[in-house]
Amino acid sequence: MRCDQIRPYLPGFVGGDLRPDTGDVVAAHVATCVSCTAESASLERVRTGLAVVAAREVEPPAGLLEGILERTSEHTHRRVLAPVLPFAVDDVVRLVSDHKDTIASAAGVAVVAAGAAYALWRAVRGARSAQPATS
Ligand SMILES: [Zn+2]
Repeated sequence: MRCDQIRPYLPGFVGGDLRPDTGDVVAAHVATCVSCTAESASLERVRTGLAVVAAREVEPPAGLLEGILERTSEHTHRRVLAPVLPFAVDDVVRLVSDHKDTIASAAGVAVVAAGAAYALWRAVRGARSAQPATS
């Protein structure tokens, strides 16, 4: 098969999401194609990088809970705490800029969008469960 026929399947191949028969066809091509091997490696780096960013757990700063409790007891008006993202936005920006070529492909965009959406979902969910509601 030609590279342009294989390329749309590379993100699924890298992610292990292809049906076995499709995966075998892609694997056979990648094994003999320098270009598709390089693109697979690049996709793998993006995937790994997003997984690392999404999985990063942060410890709340020491004294955060005490500080919140102090402030909420001192002030009667409602305060809104901005969620703290459990990853550095710089990391995501660097990851994306390091892999512009890969991300330029439609399939790459889908991988990145899914990873970013997942990271954001985790961040919001983590921020909600980690911070008590203020009153
Ligand atoms: Zn190829």
